[in-house]
Amino acid sequence: MCPGSFDPITNGHLDVIERASNLFDEIVVAVGINQSKNRLFEPDERVEMIQEATAHLGNVKVDVFRGLLVKFCVAHDISAIVKGLRAVSDFDYELQMGQMNRSLASVDTLFMPADPHYSFLSSSLVKEVATYGGDISGLVPEPVLRRLRERLGT
Ligand code: ADP
Repeated sequence: MCPGSFDPITNGHLDVIERASNLFDEIVVAVGINQSKNRLFEPDERVEMIQEATAHLGNVKVDVFRGLLVKFCVAHDISAIVKGLRAVSDFDYELQMGQMNRSLASVDTLFMPADPHYSFLSSSLVKEVATYGGDISGLVPEPVLRRLRERLGT
């Protein structure tokens, strides 16, 4: 599974999902729903954008999860989590999470180095740049670009 908030999905996420889909028989992109976080897009919209952006990949499905990721993994018979690493700063937290998830359930985490073209990309930065009218084409899939323009009126 490829978990995340995906608010919204970026080309960095999509690159990791595409590469993971070449390595595994089936990939579940799992959209985490966390009430406490301030989000631009509703879970349904985030799911829709991912579905449209991954429509060309035959072995990818999209789902949502609440609460503990490993509970979702166990319930869906998922044995591996794939995470993209953009920089060393991602690593400390992801290592800790991966070790915790392995201790909670026998779910392993595999780290995939981000494509250098996308290693500066995050959903929050994309939203910030788009809010101020910056050009984010090439950084997000087309369905995201369209919805961001609608939402922000840019
Ligand atoms: P968060 O869980 O902090 O909300 P995201 O939902 O944005 O983070 O990201 C989910 C996963 O995708 C994380 O493992 C993150 O490292 C990875 N990721 C995010 N942006 C990129 C990128 N540009 N390239 C590769 N991996 C990325």
